[in-house]
Amino acid sequence: MARHGRTPRSPLVLDIARLGRRPGSMMAFQETVASPMRIGLDLIGIAEGAPLTLDLLVQAVSEGVLVTGTVAAPTTGECARCLTPLTGEVEIDLTELFAYPDSTTDATTEADEVGRVGAAGVPDTVDLEQPIIDAVGLALPFVPLCRPDCAGLCADCGIALNTAEPGHHHDKVDPRWAKLAGLVERDDK
Ligand SMILES: [Zn+2]
Ligand SMILES: [Zn+2]
Repeated sequence: MARHGRTPRSPLVLDIARLGRRPGSMMAFQETVASPMRIGLDLIGIAEGAPLTLDLLVQAVSEGVLVTGTVAAPTTGECARCLTPLTGEVEIDLTELFAYPDSTTDATTEADEVGRVGAAGVPDTVDLEQPIIDAVGLALPFVPLCRPDCAGLCADCGIALNTAEPGHHHDKVDPRWAKLAGLVERDDK
């Protein structure tokens, strides 16, 4: 998780220097940034570089900084049953407290319970990367489907049954009859 000073700062690390520390002071942060990485689950997610629309309010509170608002982004993936490419949208609500490094909260909580101001290695910043990753992971479906009744793929030939001719099936000979048929054939020779 540690970032080092020289690497370009992630667009999800917000500069809050102009907020100041007076409790009650606020700043709106409305911006669309390119997602610095792929965010999501195996079958569906926000692609790296996809636009993340941040609509956030950053407020100074006595112990730190409270970030609230929404993050919205397009998603891409594939249907878990028929593998058809899917596109969609995800929107998450964020409510995230970041404690000042010298606050009581800092002294009494672990960094994985409550974020820290400046945790990304740059003072006066808050790093929204992990909260966004966590919230998007919860918001996306584990089993994305192209439609709720997706029929999936034919187990025999692999074509998508949604678009196959109605009643698509393969004539299958019962394996016991197949054996008999083989015997009969042999007798004929
Ligand atoms: Zn499907
Ligand atoms: Zn088939």
